[in-house]
This record gives sequence, C-alpha cells and structure tokens, in this order.
Amino acid sequence: MSIRMTRALLGVATAFTLLGAGVSASATEILAIRHWSSPERTRIVLDLSGPASYLHRELGSPPRVAVDVADSHFRIPVEAIPIDDGVVERVRFNRLAQSGKAQVVLDLTAATGYDVFALERFDEKRDRIVIDVRKPAAPASPMPSVTPSGRPRAPRQEHAIDPETFGDFVVMVDPGHGGEDTGRQNPDGLREKHLALEFSKALADEINSRVGFRAELTRTGDYFISLKRRRDLAEERGAHLFVSVHFNSAPSRTARGTEIFFVSLRGAEDRMTRELVEAENSADLVGGLAPRDEDTTTDLTRMLVDLRQSDSVERSQQLAVALNDHVDRVPNVVTRNVKQAGFAVLKSLFIPAVLVEVGFLTNREDANLARSSRHRERYVEALTDGLVEYCERVEIPRLGWKIHTVSRGESLSQIAGSYAMNLQALRDANQLSGDRIREGQRLRVRTR
Ligand SMILES: [Zn+2]
Repeated sequence: MSIRMTRALLGVATAFTLLGAGVSASATEILAIRHWSSPERTRIVLDLSGPASYLHRELGSPPRVAVDVADSHFRIPVEAIPIDDGVVERVRFNRLAQSGKAQVVLDLTAATGYDVFALERFDEKRDRIVIDVRKPAAPASPMPSVTPSGRPRAPRQEHAIDPETFGDFVVMVDPGHGGEDTGRQNPDGLREKHLALEFSKALADEINSRVGFRAELTRTGDYFISLKRRRDLAEERGAHLFVSVHFNSAPSRTARGTEIFFVSLRGAEDRMTRELVEAENSADLVGGLAPRDEDTTTDLTRMLVDLRQSDSVERSQQLAVALNDHVDRVPNVVTRNVKQAGFAVLKSLFIPAVLVEVGFLTNREDANLARSSRHRERYVEALTDGLVEYCERVEIPRLGWKIHTVSRGESLSQIAGSYAMNLQALRDANQLSGDRIREGQRLRVRTR
C-alpha cells in the first residue's frame, strides 16, 4: 500500500496553512461526480466548490483506490454509482466524520495503474479532482472488424490496388473535444463534441466503404483525449492522412460556413483565426491533462519531426484545397477560404493533416444543417471524394514498419530520433514501459 500526495496539492496545502484556521470553517463541497469510459481508461471527475487537498492510496484484495478529500463534504446523494466497464465496478462515498474528510472509493475489477490530479477552475469549469484508472495492459489495439458505428463492414470489392503490395490508405479521423472538454456550444444546447463525433463516425463509415481506404477514429465515445495522444494514435495506427473534425462559433450570428485549415509552423495571421486556434488548443486545459501525459518528446526528436514536417505542410495544403473543392459543391454549404494556422493537434504530424471547421453553431442555417442527417451524409461523401481524389493525384508517402536491431550504446530516444518517431509511440509499439533496451534487441520502428 502506498500513500502519495501530489506536488500540485502540496502547494494547496501550504496555502491552507498560510491562511490559517479560518479556512477550515468554509469546507469544500463535492458538488457532482461524473465519469467516462474510454478504450484506454476510466475517468472519474469530482466537481468541487473550491480547491481542496487530497490523499490517495491503493488497497489490495479486493483491489480499490481511495481518495480522501480534506475538509470537505458531499452535496450529492452518497449512494454508490455502478460503472461496470470492465475496469471500475463502482464508486462509493464515505463521510469520515472524525477527520472531516470526504472519501471516494473506486472498486476495481483488477489491480491496475491510476493517476489522481487536480484541475483548476477554467472558464465555466469548477475546481476538479480527476481520477484516471488505466485499463490493465491494453495491447496495441488492432483494427476492429466493424465500422466505428457498429455496422459490420461491407464486403470488399476486388481491390484496385493490390493490398499485399500497398495496403489500404489509412485515414485517421479525429472528432474534436470530448468528455470534460465540450468545445463550442450554441444557446439551443448543440454541442461541438457530440456533433464532431457524429460527423466523424459518418465520415469513417463513408471512407470504409471505398475500396483501398480504411478509417480509424481517435475517439469513439464521449471522453477526453489529449491533443498529443491524438497525434500519437495516428502514428501508431499507421495513418497516411489526418482529418480533425470541429464546429465553430462566433460573436456574430451571421458568420457561417466551412473553414478548412492546414498546419502552420508559424503563428496564425488574422485575429479571428488566432482566437479560434487559442480555443481549439486549450482543449487539454479544459479536458484535463494528467501530469504524466505531458509531452516527453526529446528536443532532437521534435527537431527531426519538424524538419520532416516542412514537406508535409505543402501536402496538407493540397489536401485542404481538394477537400474544400468538393465540400463547396454540397448544397447549402458556404465555404470560406482554406487557411493556414498553428493548431496543436496538427503539429508534429508528418503526414498530410487538416482541421475541418464544418460550420458555425452560432449561425441558424449552419446549426440546422449540422442537425440534418441527410446533410451529414452528403457532406461526408464530399469530404471522402476529396480524400480519394487527393490520394489518386498525389504520391502519398507510404508509412510502414520495419525492425531495428539495437546496437551497442544506442538509447531509445536516439532510435526514436533517427526514425522521426515520437518516443512514447516507439515505447507503445514495442510494449516497453520504460526506456531500457539492450544490445541486439529487435524493435518495431516506422519507415516511409
Ligand atoms: Zn473544436
């Protein structure tokens, strides 16, 4: 059993000491409990009335995680919440009256790793404590044999391109936001995270129906996923193209239309684009990034990736133009210009990557279109036509895997750098938990 206190919370504890006894009179309230299950973890979020210090510990047989929130009480019913997602069985609540603590206990299916961290108030989000329970040793997930929406994949026609030689074009479809991070919303309650997921699933289905193409999704449900993880997934799944799906909003209700962006290695140009980039890039702040998720890419790797990326900027622009041309033909759609901007989700990707802002939720016509399934079908068909046309016209760098045999004195980060791979992706591809490797070890690495 281990008892740990996070560094961030030690800071809060100090603040309490400095403020003195008066603070404990106004105890923190736990206002809500929310939870999400993703393929990689279960996330439990406690919404608090203010910052609080906490302790967490693991308990064995049966496996549990207990989080004690100091000087606080529940403003929610204290009946257990069943979760039963194969990782967490349920969440229980205890009042520890003696010590003035509120205790949250997670009953786990099996002992596994977890993180607990605090998130500060941000925009309309309250102070929060986040408990992430990782799925026990999830193997690198193979491609599911059903489409993301659960429909079985249509039987394949004969391949125009010999799959043995070339394989499918893999398109990573990235529904923006998710979980804690709702993205934009309009006064009618239309939420970007839900619309982005619906559009992305429809797009993935459409891509999967085309011969020689295959889609992967960065998320398949309503849960948070970091911007870095989205990029890493593209790399791990061997994606050739990356399409991030979003919806926009604006102070003016007349602003409408689709905007397609490709990455800029510099900052964004105009004010409106700058604000949009800030909003999209804040996803990690809103959604909650565990300290361990922080970017661990070495400077060398980043530099090599950036060098490699400069030629993918041009390809990304061509892809953006191809998509824009096709979307422009969809009835009722207004297209604005193809633009270049510094979206974090597109950075450090060395495959052609675009971000599609489908429409403005603050505009009545765009919002109506976003709700229409008929429109959605036409829209994703046009996007797919654009993808296919682009792939036929441009020679796509084919990414593949090969085996690298470790030579004497080589480090994992050196190997990552020499293949322009992200260090974590290299660890994941080889199921390494740390950086220890030995001479003669065979590692899967990316090539192009
Ligand atoms: Zn967005």
